[in-house]
Parts: sequence; C-alpha cells; structure tokens
Amino acid sequence: MNTPQQILKSYYGYDRFRPMQEEIIRHVLQGKDALVLMPTGGGKSICFQIPALMLDGTAIVVSPLISLMKDQVEALRANGIQAETINSGNDEFTNRIIRERCQRGEVKLLYISPERLMTEITWMVQDLEISLFAIDEAHCISQWGHDFRPEYTQLGILHEKFPTVPIIALTATADKITKADIVERLQLHNPQLFIGSFDRPNLSLDVKRGYAAKDKIRTIMHVIRRHLHESGIIYCLARKTTEKLAEKLRANGVSVGIYHAGLSIEERNKVQEDFVNDRIHVVVATIAFGMGIDKSNVRFVIHYNLPQSIESFYQEIGRGGRDGLPTETLLFYNVQDLITLRRFVDDSGQKEINLEKLKRMQEYAEAQVCRRRILLNYFNETTDRNCGNCDVCISPPKHFDGTEHVQKALSAIMRTKEQIGFTLTAEILHGTYSSEVTAKGYQLLKTFGAGRDVPFRDWQDYLLQMLQMGFLEIAYNEDRHLKVTPLGKEVLYGRKRAELAIIEREDLRVRNHKERQFNLIEEDAGIPKTENKVLFERLRELRKQIAEANHWPAYIVMSDKSLHMLATEQPTTLQAFGEIFGIGQHKRDTYGERFIAVIKDFVQSE
Ligand code: ADP
Ligand code: ZN
Repeated sequence: MNTPQQILKSYYGYDRFRPMQEEIIRHVLQGKDALVLMPTGGGKSICFQIPALMLDGTAIVVSPLISLMKDQVEALRANGIQAETINSGNDEFTNRIIRERCQRGEVKLLYISPERLMTEITWMVQDLEISLFAIDEAHCISQWGHDFRPEYTQLGILHEKFPTVPIIALTATADKITKADIVERLQLHNPQLFIGSFDRPNLSLDVKRGYAAKDKIRTIMHVIRRHLHESGIIYCLARKTTEKLAEKLRANGVSVGIYHAGLSIEERNKVQEDFVNDRIHVVVATIAFGMGIDKSNVRFVIHYNLPQSIESFYQEIGRGGRDGLPTETLLFYNVQDLITLRRFVDDSGQKEINLEKLKRMQEYAEAQVCRRRILLNYFNETTDRNCGNCDVCISPPKHFDGTEHVQKALSAIMRTKEQIGFTLTAEILHGTYSSEVTAKGYQLLKTFGAGRDVPFRDWQDYLLQMLQMGFLEIAYNEDRHLKVTPLGKEVLYGRKRAELAIIEREDLRVRNHKERQFNLIEEDAGIPKTENKVLFERLRELRKQIAEANHWPAYIVMSDKSLHMLATEQPTTLQAFGEIFGIGQHKRDTYGERFIAVIKDFVQSE
C-alpha cells in the first residue's frame, strides 16, 4: 500500500506535508476522532482526503454550502479522485446513480449537506461502507460561533449509528466554548485536538493611516497595477462606498464587480462566479463576500475601511493567497472609520465585548511593532521573531520631536473650549477658510493657520497620532468633540515633550502632473516582457481553454504557482512535467502533452 507521502505526491503533486497534516492523517487512519483547528488556506482538506483514499469504503464529508462542495469535488476530480456530491441541485436520477456507485465502493468521497445527510442516513446504515466522517466548518454546530446552523446539531447521532467510524471535525475559527461545543455535540470519543499555526507568512501586512478617498484610490490603483490580470478583493464598510469605489475603478479601466447584501441572490451569485472564473478581476464588497468560495489565487486583499474586529480582519485577509504564493494585504485606517464603528458598537447588543474587539483592531492598526506578532498574539500564538513582511518590519517608523505640533493642536482645541471635532481642528491649524470655520468665527482665533506649513492631510495624521498617544480623546457622547487629556496638558504647558512619527507617503508622490488619469493599458506596456512572461501568458491561455472546456475555474486546472514553475522550468518531457509542484499523475497524463507542446513551440521559436 502507498504511504500518505506517496499519495500526496501522486495525486496532488506536492512534495511535502505542511505542519500537522501527516500527524492528523495517521491519527485518523487509526480510526480515532480528531478536532482540527487550522486557518483558512492552511490545508485542512488533505487531512481527511488522504485517509479517505487509503481506507476502504466512502468518506462522508459534511459541508454547509453547495458552492464549497462543488468546488472541492471539482478539484478532487481534476486530480483523478472519485468524488461526488448529493445535494438539492441534483435531480433524483443522478442521486440514485451516485448512491449505487457508493455502494459498489467506487466513490472515495461523498460531499453532502447536514440536512441532506439526515434524510440519506437510513440506506447508509444498511448498505454503505463508510471510511470516515469529515465535518467541515464544524464551528457551525455551536450557537456561540458566528455561523450557527441548526442543521449541524443533528450530527450528534452519527456516533450512535456508526460507533466505529472515526469523525474528524475541522474549522478555522473556534474559541474555547465553540471547541467544547463541537466535541460535545458531535459526541467525539477522546478526540485529539490539533491546532495548526495561524501564521500565514505569504500574506504581507500593510497599514495606511489617515488617507482621504483620493489618496486611497491612487494607492489602490498602484496595487491593482502590480497585479494585472490577477484577482483581488476590496472590503468596504458600507454599500454606498462599494458602489462609489467600483465606479472610480471602472473609470480607470479595472474589471470590477460589486457584492453586498442589498443585491439579489442571482446578482450576487453572478459576481461570485465571474470572479471565480476570472471574468472580473476585482470585487468590491461588504463583509458578506467570500464565505462560500475557495478561490486560491486571490493576490491582494484591501480593507478600504477599518474592520470591526481582528477576527473578521484575519478571516478576510485569509481569503487571499491560499495557494501559498506572495499576497498583498492593505488596510486603510482613519478617524472617520473609528467614529462610524464606534457608533455601530454603541448600538449593538453586546457593547462591552464589541468595544473591546474594536479596541484590539485599533491597536493593530496603530502598531509600532511587527504587525504579525500582534495578530499571532491575538490568537494566543507567540513568536520571538519579527516577520520581515509587514510595513513596520520593512520600514520601522522614524520619529521627530513633535512637541510644537502637539502644542499648536491642543492649544487650538482649548481655544474653542473643546467644541470641535477632528476635521475642524485640522482646518483651523492649516488655516482653511471652510464654511464651518467662518460660521463659528474660528478664523479669528490666534491659532488659526498656526500650522500652515504642514499639509492638511498630515495634520489629520498627526491628530490621529495624538489620539493614539493619549494626548486627546474623542467625546463620543458630545458630538465627538476632541478633549485634551491631563497627559495632553503636560505637553501643552511644556512639562513634557512629545515624539511624533514621521509621515512617509512615497507611493503618493506624483512624478508628473499629467499622470492624473490612470491607464491600465499603458502600465501594462511598461512591464518588462521577459521571455518567461510571454510563455507564461501562453500557458495561461491554454489553462483557460481547458478550464472552459470543463466548465471549471482556471485554478482547478492548475494553480498559478504551478503555471509560474512551468514558465521557469520549461519541462519538455512528461516525466519532467510531472515533477512540477501541484501536478499529480492524473494531471500529468491528462494535460501534460498539451502543455509540453506549448513549451516546445516556445523554446523552438526563440
Ligand atoms: P483549508 O480547507 O484549510 O482552507 P485547503 O485544504 O483548501 O485549505 O488548502 C489550501 C490550499 O493549499 C489548496 O490549494 C491545497 O491544495 C494546498 N495545499 C494543502 N496541503 C498542501 C501541501 N502539503 N503542499 C502544498 N500545497 C498544499
Ligand atoms: Zn513584521
């Protein structure tokens, strides 16, 4: 019999297991229960798929969403593995054939929803050899989790009906209570708990502070240009923002879709499908997007607004880079978001918990130390190293003596009797004759224009820093006016000095004023067209043809990583082709010749 390692190579084309995978597989092969906690993209599926391939009978995989099942079944079939799904989308004839194939032992993995499993269970008890149960998204069983699904609670009968069949429960998000709930409700027997690392080192982390809409769009366009023809997600807080932003991006030549709860299910499905199949490259979405999709080649995830918690932030950036390739994440953070989110929190049922969550999110955004350490720490994982792949590690903030700036700002606030908010303070400091300034007569203040030499948006940044450092606070119950704290007064009256971080906006520098209109086509022409790049495009085209012929998303045929390796290594024999990352025997035998033909053709024409 083959070892798990051999199966990993022959079916999936991978050379080595990720941490924990092999341990989990061996555990399940011994017929024992397990609870697996690993981040999105961590590689949970292989933990039950490989035992399913090694054991006799059919593995039953419970999954909450048809789209997820479909995606996994397609990926398995593309690797030559017999997988099926019984769901409400099938007609009864198809389901009957699938049942018969399962009974004959021809199906290694059967994907099914929890409610459907309950209606199918009778024949399974009588006529089916079941190798194992895998319960995907197992946190859905807990009322304490955020995706509670009542249908999941019925899964408790599995161990009553099938006492000797191992159950492996898998999830990416579970706190202590949820974990206990999963074990109890599934009635797991002495389950071993496997907790994978939550680190996703291929995701770079970057935060931009205090950007106005114009600056955000400019920065986003830089990111999009770095990833031409590649996919990305931009999360916004409000529907209206998604629409406005999408319009701006479209005007700049980006193929973009919108996704939010106000759209019909049909509209949402269409956007999702177009995205998965690379017909649109960017989706601008509210938080609802991404739950039911498994797209592995999302190359950037941008948060246009501050998320409400580190959990949601991490889950959302986790939708990027599931193939392990370098992926950019970028978070914009400004005080308006803070104010909006604070209002949500005040209106929410669980004010204290949500406030704490928002605070931790804010701390992340304001961090002056390695951001990944903050994230991992949040998930109770500690590390003694800086990551080298976040903005703080790459360019540590530099400081200057900002005492004078702080004094000017605090004095401006004091002179209005602390009756102004964020924007108005910046306007007074910069000396802007806005309608609000003149309405209140603030242009007559001694501090009006005291900071004229500092750009308006830099004042916004400095004020945010003063807030972070506790010189200022926002009175949420008083129209969000700014109040000077006792610590702030120490600086104001010269008893303490204050350091501020130097603002660096290298990516906003405009070389040429005519560069205002972004043009994707021109930018494309500027990319150095190395030979590999040409070959890469040809290989990508072939991948697209195969994907379309099979009605699959492109990444099911082959991951971007495999495609890049093909373009670099340029294998011209089947054997060499089979050595490429992610190419198992089935893909080698099915598509090898066609890819090799393209490579040979390219090599000869050089
Ligand atoms: P999860 O279910 O944990 O979100 P998946 O099981 O979908 O993650 O795996 C994410 C990606 O990682 C998939 O493309 C999968 O093929 C890939 N992967 C899993 N294990 C390995 C491995 N050992 N080596 C390389 N890639 C892997
Ligand atoms: Zn770092």
